Amino acid sequence: MSARVGFLGLGANGPEARAHLEQALVGLETAGVRIAAVAAPVSGPFVGPQGRPDARAPRVLNSVAEVRATLTSEALLACCARLEEAAGRVRDGSPLRTLDLDLLMLGEEVRECGAPQLPHPRALERAFVLAPWEEIAPFTAVPGTGSDVLTHAARLRARAPEAFAALTLEAPLALPDLRGRLEVLPDRAALALWRSTRTGALGLVPTMGALHAGHAALVRRARAESETVLASVFVNPLQFGAGEDLGRYPRTFESDRAVLAAAGADAVYVPDVADLYPAGFATYVAPEGPALAFEGERRPGHFRGVATVVLKLFQRARAQRAWFGRKDAQQAAVIERLVRDLDLLTEVVVAPTVRDHDGLALSSRNRYLTPEERTRALALPRALERLRQEAASGEREVARLLALTHARLDEAGLAIDYLSVVEPRSFEPLERLGSEPALALATVRCGTTRLLDNRWVVGGR
Ligand code: AMP
Repeated sequence: MSARVGFLGLGANGPEARAHLEQALVGLETAGVRIAAVAAPVSGPFVGPQGRPDARAPRVLNSVAEVRATLTSEALLACCARLEEAAGRVRDGSPLRTLDLDLLMLGEEVRECGAPQLPHPRALERAFVLAPWEEIAPFTAVPGTGSDVLTHAARLRARAPEAFAALTLEAPLALPDLRGRLEVLPDRAALALWRSTRTGALGLVPTMGALHAGHAALVRRARAESETVLASVFVNPLQFGAGEDLGRYPRTFESDRAVLAAAGADAVYVPDVADLYPAGFATYVAPEGPALAFEGERRPGHFRGVATVVLKLFQRARAQRAWFGRKDAQQAAVIERLVRDLDLLTEVVVAPTVRDHDGLALSSRNRYLTPEERTRALALPRALERLRQEAASGEREVARLLALTHARLDEAGLAIDYLSVVEPRSFEPLERLGSEPALALATVRCGTTRLLDNRWVVGGR
């Protein structure tokens, strides 16, 4: 059977809760279940079998993992039961959960009786499942329901806001160390030689280095769906304007190497400028459409640099698929359009933003922030989250949503560069929310650092 996309709910309480969840992830990988993504866990009250919170029981740590599994649903459930048993779970009705693994869904499978029932019959009524689930897979359609995870979460949030409010975001789980042999490919010739020995689907993760858990998450997702994963680390001078941070952009190759190895990359391409742009280089890609406004307007030449390097990396890697982060949503839209307009053969996958434990989107540039600025920066994700909630409670007029957000960012002392709600493919601003997808964007300056963030206001892809 070919691998299917599955989602598992993970829960544990008591003193060893975190360790049990982390061991379960290792156990799944050992059983051949590939982990594509794991949501940052949330803690919340123990919810008894009747669906009522029990304040006397120890709080539960919950997360959701996206997996690729070739097992049948029965076999995957049995694997989960073995891991629960290994963690010492006893089913005696007590509110202690050493480890609880629920199969939420597997591929398109719908089963109303027997075990497992699919999708999990109570998953869509539980905030502690939907909150982490929507962070890693907002647009996954839940089989048999006609709606995606984001829509289910929005519905439950409207019905039971208190269940979401009772959850606290916790520090991410340590993920299984997948360390294999990471080959370092210093130039085009080394890449070509290495590539000629690889068969099967190649997944590419282009980066500028200074890697963090957001980049590692892209590599893990790529690995779950590809035979071979190639990352690239290249600080592309073409996408930096005069007076930008090209000279001081952090270069941390030794730690990048460790991050890539642990996340399961097979090789990393680390070209120098002359390898990608040899003397006489004179051809550039000039994207328009989604590249014109926002970053394109403020950073002239930026997307020309991005599109040119991405095209070259796709060609050199001969990648079937390449992973990018929603964190840089406009960049993702420009690259998707590049692929479509120039008939490139690489498929683009855009993965959700990975955030720090307090909600700040991870970025290589966060290390420029002083401790005081780091605290102030939190107003950005919080303001976008408030905007999303106000939209969910029925406000349709974008101007009104933006005015409130504007005031909150001002109050926090963040200098707004731009703030808008756009259609996510064209990056055309929207005036009213309807049923089409809508993404709220904000870029602010905190001290001397530019911070970009975005949030889905209306989902749809
Ligand atoms: P960079 O090294 O900043 O050019 O980023 C390389 C890739 O990682 C881009 O596709 C980014 O969108 C992606 N990325 C950066 N930060 C995050 C994040 N916090 N979550 C997910 N992806 C990210």
